[in-house]
Amino acid sequence: MVVLGIESTAHTASVGIVSERAEVLGVASDMYRPSKGGIHPREAANHHVEVLPDLVLQALERAHVRPREVDAVAFAQGPGLGPCLRAGATVARMLSLAWGRPLIPVNHCVAHVEIARVLSGLDDPMLLYASGGNTQVISYARGRYRVLGETLDIGIGNFLDKLWIELGGTFPGGPALELEARKGTELLTLPYSVHGMDVAFSGMLTASLALNASGSTRPDLAYSVEVTAYAMLTEITERALAHRRRDAVVLGGGVACNERLRTMVREMVEGRGGAMFAPPRSLCVDNGAMIAWTGHLAHGAGVSVPVEDSAVQPRQRTDLVRTPWRAD
Ligand code: AMP
Ligand code: MG
Repeated sequence: MVVLGIESTAHTASVGIVSERAEVLGVASDMYRPSKGGIHPREAANHHVEVLPDLVLQALERAHVRPREVDAVAFAQGPGLGPCLRAGATVARMLSLAWGRPLIPVNHCVAHVEIARVLSGLDDPMLLYASGGNTQVISYARGRYRVLGETLDIGIGNFLDKLWIELGGTFPGGPALELEARKGTELLTLPYSVHGMDVAFSGMLTASLALNASGSTRPDLAYSVEVTAYAMLTEITERALAHRRRDAVVLGGGVACNERLRTMVREMVEGRGGAMFAPPRSLCVDNGAMIAWTGHLAHGAGVSVPVEDSAVQPRQRTDLVRTPWRAD
């Protein structure tokens, strides 16, 4: 059993091919990089339309899989940018019709949990999902993945990207800020914005820009932003563990590539006697393999959609999606 998965929720177009044992047989990805500013949804969608056909061929070739050996086609149905989602969904529908294979809708956030869950071998971990557009603490309970805490304004990655662009850099900002932060020495005071189980970043963005205008160095700003923002995420993750009486955490999303975030969460979890797992970076960022793997799980539980009911859902909530492959 082999599933081909298509990811296109935001800046990354990606096709992954995964076996029923969760072996990643082949992945081909291409990220849209705006020459200046942030992501423009329609430009990103045009990029995806252009690259996806080739990515399908590349993924098949890397996986040594022929089209007729693909048993199902999965696609990210949401949440994400409408035009980008539609580009991926259109390719998935076409392949499903051309190959006569079932079409499997997948929630992007659930896919981050599922790939981390299978790779970690942890049965019921909490997910800290820290990406460009999303920042959520997710845990399974009674038939669904529940969002226990999340950002009240922008996603952490968008915050890092905006800040870096304002400081004169280019998208994506997270990896560049990580390098800059290693040179920082002074911890500047920034708004620490935790509200119960939720976080917010726009105040920190404003304060960082004000500090920049008054002469703070880029390395010190990067260092202070990382320490403060990741402490906020670590705090709400710890509170979620305590409330849910859980002891395992997996990470997902592009910001989960960050070494400081990984270390801070690991120290917190291990301090509580639990286990932390972060997937390899290529599977933390948006990728087709996680969509394919979740497609396997959904397909195994009888989930599929006819093409006419396969509209994308840009605002699809993690906690509204049924996950019949998980026992209650
Ligand atoms: P995603 O939306 O999950 O594909 O993740 C993209 C986001 O991850 C962008 O906002 C990047 O700036 C951010 N990102 C990628 N690598 C890192 C890193 N090493 N540290 C912090 N943020 C990162
Ligand atoms: Mg993502």
